Amino acid sequence: MNNETDIMTRLLTADIRTPCYVIDEKKLRENCKVLKSVQDRTGCRILLAQKAFSNYDFYPLLSEYLSGTEASGLYEARLGCEMMKDKECHVFCAAYREDEFEELLSYAGHIVFNSPTQLKKFGAAAKAHGRQVGLRINPECSTQEGHEIYDPCSPTSRLGTTREQWDELMDGGLTDMLDGLHFHTLCEQNSDALEKTLEAVEEKFSPYLKRVKWLNMGGGHHITRDDYDIDLLCRLIEKMRDKYSLQIYLEPGEAVALNAGYLVTEVLDIVKNGKNRIAILDMSPACHTPDVIEMPYRPPLLGSVEKSQHQYILAGPTCLAGDVVGEYCFERELNIGDRLIFGDMAIYSTCKNNTFNGMPLPTIYKACESGGILPLAAFGYEDFKYRLGTK
Ligand SMILES: *Cc1c(COP(=O)(O)O)cnc(C)c1O
Repeated sequence: MNNETDIMTRLLTADIRTPCYVIDEKKLRENCKVLKSVQDRTGCRILLAQKAFSNYDFYPLLSEYLSGTEASGLYEARLGCEMMKDKECHVFCAAYREDEFEELLSYAGHIVFNSPTQLKKFGAAAKAHGRQVGLRINPECSTQEGHEIYDPCSPTSRLGTTREQWDELMDGGLTDMLDGLHFHTLCEQNSDALEKTLEAVEEKFSPYLKRVKWLNMGGGHHITRDDYDIDLLCRLIEKMRDKYSLQIYLEPGEAVALNAGYLVTEVLDIVKNGKNRIAILDMSPACHTPDVIEMPYRPPLLGSVEKSQHQYILAGPTCLAGDVVGEYCFERELNIGDRLIFGDMAIYSTCKNNTFNGMPLPTIYKACESGGILPLAAFGYEDFKYRLGTK
């Protein structure tokens, strides 16, 4: 039995309350082993980008393989520091706040600034605390099409310092403060996009690569995807490592938990509009898988088929007309009460959901390697209410 039929059988028969997320411990470990092999081959260090996946019950497992966490700000830095204690904690934020910076310094060992102005404002305090200081650069090399909101190299991007800004605002003292450089420009991409990006990084910033100790190549590397070219990734890491004497960091989010989670839902009703059959589920894409609407994309549905006469639009129970997952085909007719399983739901889901429309937050379960399905966290009315007013 392959993993997909195995997990389907388990989830279709499990005594679980829908809608719920189920995180697949076995798949998570498989991903980690792939990432660890890249670390072992190249000496690079791989961090979990927590904004994609921050289900900390799994941090002990992740820390068997990864070098630490990457945070987008104070809360994630604290979480990484608390739950992956002996590991590295890096932070990048487009702009830090004065009233949080001191506390942030108590969590993060590596602090990456977005601009020379921020470096000037906070760099000395970070150094005084013995922290490593980095600057995010913008190599101005777009390698993705179609998803403008995921392109930090678009002409209007605020993310990273361009070479022009560097020349205008950096001085000798600021440059001397830098321990490392950071870029993050990829999204769900293969290593050929990294190769192209590195050419731009070298063309624009090579004099500075020689002066720092580390280079963080960000996330967006889809390392655990079947068709990912790991050999090329390793060659690129080794080249940068050797040419400039750099410690290389990667901080993937997606690749850590790719295909390592499910969203289980139940059909509440089936309605018709003209020729269309529409199944109303107990999950809402707008609330529980916001990337389906935002990106947008059509998530995999386990057990669905490419084409058949049993075609349905799957949609949420909210009052948002566009709260639709997409159109799917099945081998047989759908019925009210059927359980459906969306795949690849560990990333950008649990950490991005919301209670719009008063929708309950789905329970989070763990599909244990040993076979059982264990509840990790459940939510109720109070989780909806108390983010809106006094307690
Ligand atoms: C989003 C982000 C990541 C992780 O990206 P994935 O696409 O999930 O791999 C890493 N670093 C930074 C700075 C990010 O903003």
